[in-house]
Amino acid sequence: MTKTISVLGSTGSIGRQTLQVAGELGLRVAALTANSQVDLMEKQVRRFCPELVVMMDEDAANELRGRLSDLPVCVMSGEAGLLAAATLEEADTVVTAVVGSVGLRPTLAAIEKGKRIALANKETLVCAGELVMDAADRFGAQIVPVDSEHSAIFQSLQGCRDRKEIRRLILTCSGGPFFGKTYRELEPVRPADALKHPNWSMGAKITIDSATLMNKGLEVIEAMRLYRLPVEQVDAVIHRQSIIHSLVEFRDGAMIAQLGTPDMKLPIRYAFTWPNRAESPDGPLDLLSCGALTFHAPDMDAFPCLRIARECAKAGGTSCAVMNAANEEAVMAFLRGEMGFNDIPRQVERALSAVAVKYTPTLEDILEADRMAREVVRNR
Ligand code: NDP
Ligand code: MG
Repeated sequence: MTKTISVLGSTGSIGRQTLQVAGELGLRVAALTANSQVDLMEKQVRRFCPELVVMMDEDAANELRGRLSDLPVCVMSGEAGLLAAATLEEADTVVTAVVGSVGLRPTLAAIEKGKRIALANKETLVCAGELVMDAADRFGAQIVPVDSEHSAIFQSLQGCRDRKEIRRLILTCSGGPFFGKTYRELEPVRPADALKHPNWSMGAKITIDSATLMNKGLEVIEAMRLYRLPVEQVDAVIHRQSIIHSLVEFRDGAMIAQLGTPDMKLPIRYAFTWPNRAESPDGPLDLLSCGALTFHAPDMDAFPCLRIARECAKAGGTSCAVMNAANEEAVMAFLRGEMGFNDIPRQVERALSAVAVKYTPTLEDILEADRMAREVVRNR
């Protein structure tokens, strides 16, 4: 069980819930990192007393250093700071809750120190999943998923002694705010509409990914990497209620699932307590009032991102890294009001046809593919 954590991205949606769970479980906090939110970071540092705090943004780090001059805390900035937080001796577990492929290097660095990774940052597994999983094997680092679907699968696989018994993984998907709409109806969608998720309150980037269904595409790839299965054995099904968090279908036809209220604190808590479970202050799911559970096939014509992700998963090499980076850039441009909703898949496809795929890529090849894909979208 986890005793001391470092949280990369502590001011975000996952980061804040992580600190809530850490408080409940009485975990020590060694390091906290954020991009630029100084006010919240100051509060977190005063509450959890880490020895290291990192602001990616240099000015934010300077501002925070001044405010915390009464405390014995080291304040760093930039990628060097993130790497220091990821590898700090005191922490046995690193929570990767930054958004985007910026999480890749620090995740690898934490793995090389043999730490448990409570993995929320799915972009890292999408762009470099094979490298990350191989490194985890080599350095004996446990990767415990925080993403609710992958945690559900992880929980459903406890007791499965032979992975060959798995027929397929079934990821559930809420369908997002635009379930039932056609591609044409999605053309005029604005950021404010797309930011209204029916079941989960999350950071802006993943909320848009949930609206385009790119989130489910990223999660299909995340599941393939975590459980080392081909894309043909990972399916997605629309389940509007977000009560069943995902399922495993076994060779004998048995299906094992994990159910619960839509609350990220459960998978976060489990990532710390695994292989055990801890008492939770949150109430359980009430089966008698949760209503009917429904299932639908995803509409790949209205939501091409899911189709594109499956194609990239099949193509392999650097294509998932290109797709992920292009999507990150396109989502930011959409949020700034610079492009339309359906331009997100269009720009991702543009990047995929502009950047040549490299097979069995090195870390440098992946970072280069990420950089080139971003450039294609920025120069649109
Ligand atoms: P948020 O946007 O809420 O938080 C992101 C965190 O990362 C913040 O602490 C932010 O700092 C920091 N950050 C942002 N950009 C950078 C950067 N360039 N360098 C360093 N730090 C940065 O995101 P979420 O918490 O929603 O998501 C985090 C990750 O978890 C994502 O990969 C997401 O896909 C995954 N996830 C999230 C779920 C959720 O319920 N939210 C569910 C499942 C997975 P600052 O606050 O200063 O900007
Ligand atoms: Mg998820």
